[in-house]
Amino acid sequence: MAGIYIHIPFCKKKCIYCDFYSIAAKADVVDNYIDALCKEIAMRKAELCGETVKTVYVGGGTPSLLGHGRLLRIADALHREFDMCGVEEFTIEVNPDDVSDEEVAAFRSMGINRVSMGVQSFIDEELKFLNRRHTADGAIEAYNTILRNGIDNVSIDLIYGIPGQTLQSWRQSVDTAMQLRPRHISCYNLSYEDGTRLSRMLENGSIAVIDDDVCVKMYEIVSDRLADCGYEHYEISNYALPGFRSRHNSNYWNKTPYIGFGASAHSYLSGRRSYNPGNIKLYVAAINDGVTVSEIEEESIAEQYDEEVMLRLRTKDGIDAGRLRSTYGEEYYAYFLNAVRGFVDSGLVERHGDVYRLSRKGVMLSDMVIRELMYDYE
Ligand code: SF4
Repeated sequence: MAGIYIHIPFCKKKCIYCDFYSIAAKADVVDNYIDALCKEIAMRKAELCGETVKTVYVGGGTPSLLGHGRLLRIADALHREFDMCGVEEFTIEVNPDDVSDEEVAAFRSMGINRVSMGVQSFIDEELKFLNRRHTADGAIEAYNTILRNGIDNVSIDLIYGIPGQTLQSWRQSVDTAMQLRPRHISCYNLSYEDGTRLSRMLENGSIAVIDDDVCVKMYEIVSDRLADCGYEHYEISNYALPGFRSRHNSNYWNKTPYIGFGASAHSYLSGRRSYNPGNIKLYVAAINDGVTVSEIEEESIAEQYDEEVMLRLRTKDGIDAGRLRSTYGEEYYAYFLNAVRGFVDSGLVERHGDVYRLSRKGVMLSDMVIRELMYDYE
């Protein structure tokens, strides 16, 4: 069982909080990139060693910016090089502004059965502040267009902790989301990443960070409301109606192998991580020279343990200590039990037999808990 990730590093304009690698989409650059992507798919197909492809995720950047003609070329390359018959979930990330009847109908014809839409807020002032290119009404219209054209598995992203956002405006965004009732919601606390416009605004004093207490309240508002509406809170930032957890992302958390195509895409195959060049020019040049992966990382046992602890503790399923013992041995098992004891005593981690997971209180302090449970953290 394996996943495929395709990275599309183009955006029309930069959201102020974003530190992902993306550039403006010039037609010739995009076409050269798609050529390279299709070549890479053909060159590297053997790396999946015949594993059945179960999930495909086209992310970015803004994949919907490509338009269906270019997306079709990528989908054709996938269908040519891989057996796609076993694919259960084929997701594309979209900006509401790019959604139309024609585009969604084309998505369906390519086998896409899930859409992840970056909404972030249903308040126009907040969208403007974030430099999003759509409006709240535009997002609602896009959502209805996707459903009308036969894709009912839709995920939306929301952000809380936006400067200027209030508990009332956050409730309004969550209420609007609940009226739409998407199958899946990802909810992120706004973070201030180095090098972003948002961080510069903070440094020069033009904005202030929302208090931690208010952010905790916002988190509680969304968690409670979504629980009342039947959503399962299955990962720190992710909520799903029954049966609609993101399979592709769940596979990342379960360390299922995946192959990533495109600039800055990662792969995880046979227990090794590899990274494609993070720059479009370098990526296209490398592929045209017949060179695929630029960097391979052999993970030490300690790094694998740390990653498993970090990924699994973020999920509702939690960490199975017995699995840590059988996978990493007695030393790591003993380390984990010793490190987790204090958090169980203080109520930040709940224990159910061999399984340990964050309590609601622990979720608020998850970074600290995860850091303390890591073996190799510096
Ligand atoms: S659309 Fe997404 S990838 Fe592009 S700038 Fe905004 S957050 Fe970043």
